[in-house]
Amino acid sequence: MSLAAPRIPPFAPPRRTLMGPGPSDVPQRVLDAMARPTIGHLDPAFQAMMEELKTLLRYAFQTGNALTFPVSGPGSVGMEMCFVNLVEPGDQVIVCVNGVFGGRMLENVRRCGGVPVAVEDPWGRAVDPAKVEDAFRAHPDARLLAFVHAETSTGAQSDAAALAAIARRHGALTIMDCVTSLGGTPVLIDAWGIDAAYSGSQKCLSCTPGLSPVTFSERAIERVKARKAPAQSWFMDLNLVLGYWSGEGRRTYHHTAPINPLYGLHEALRILAEEGIENAWVRHRTLHQALRRGFERLGLDFVVPEAERLPQLNAVRVPAGTDDAGARARLLNEFNLEIGAGLGAYAGQVWRIGLMGHACSAQNVSCCLDALGRVLGRSE
Ligand SMILES: *Cc1c(COP(=O)(O)O)cnc(C)c1O
Repeated sequence: MSLAAPRIPPFAPPRRTLMGPGPSDVPQRVLDAMARPTIGHLDPAFQAMMEELKTLLRYAFQTGNALTFPVSGPGSVGMEMCFVNLVEPGDQVIVCVNGVFGGRMLENVRRCGGVPVAVEDPWGRAVDPAKVEDAFRAHPDARLLAFVHAETSTGAQSDAAALAAIARRHGALTIMDCVTSLGGTPVLIDAWGIDAAYSGSQKCLSCTPGLSPVTFSERAIERVKARKAPAQSWFMDLNLVLGYWSGEGRRTYHHTAPINPLYGLHEALRILAEEGIENAWVRHRTLHQALRRGFERLGLDFVVPEAERLPQLNAVRVPAGTDDAGARARLLNEFNLEIGAGLGAYAGQVWRIGLMGHACSAQNVSCCLDALGRVLGRSE
């Protein structure tokens, strides 16, 4: 007796405009690249592509760090990779929490056996560098500072340069989450002196989800090599992964790399390099201003004060008397437009409208303003 074969038609996803907190719209060039023939992950042709990918990622991160590569896994795996390698049991880690993702960092530190010191700021605000300075004074043995550059749950951007400088003055390394910032707003790993950073493929890089670009400074690598005990995760142990992503000419098997998604990331990063990263930053800033003017005409209020706002993630309050889920369902069903719901403490209170990467276009700004105007019964 065997189960009857299910008869299921091919999956035909609807065409949407993705203006939420990620994934963002993926350009056809990236999808086409992913449809190219799969080859072996140790094939010399694939290894040559990996080297190009590392060069392209160094450009995106604005770093000379040799150890810069895409982790096989979503942004959350990149996050774990940084913590699992850099936190040793008993280490004090100062963690800035001003939204959902800072909270996840705190949890990562605990699970690595570290002792987190939380520096809390209100949701919707940037991290206050003065509080971080105070935390280092109160905990002079802290070995690490962790913060989220672009808090996607609230749309607030923190001053990464200032935070990294404080850590450096106190002899600590920094871990920075730049999942939502990379490619959308300046991320200057070397100029800021960041030691470990992780990002995601599906936000401002506009590739499909499932890859996490990471970069580690020499100081971070020394710290990992000097660990008393190996990292508790076999898969994420940098010392082992290095045998595959480095090890020029004699790469060894660690895990099977996601070949075709890596073709996609390669193409997405080529698109970024063709545009020029500074031009991409200007495009995000300019179109954010256009969206902001439209929101003001529609009477929508931003959650974050202007000076701390991210251009690529616009959090606005759900207007009083509006049915949050009902309005988002109408945007999806009638306009094929996805926007993000509120997360955590903002559930039901806030909409998150992304202008990320390929989705950050003048056409999307007007499509979004038009659809929101109709659903809210307000015209601009
Ligand atoms: C999306 C996001 C993550 C997690 O990335 P996944 O690819 O969903 O695992 C982490 N941090 C921030 C700030 C994010 O926006």
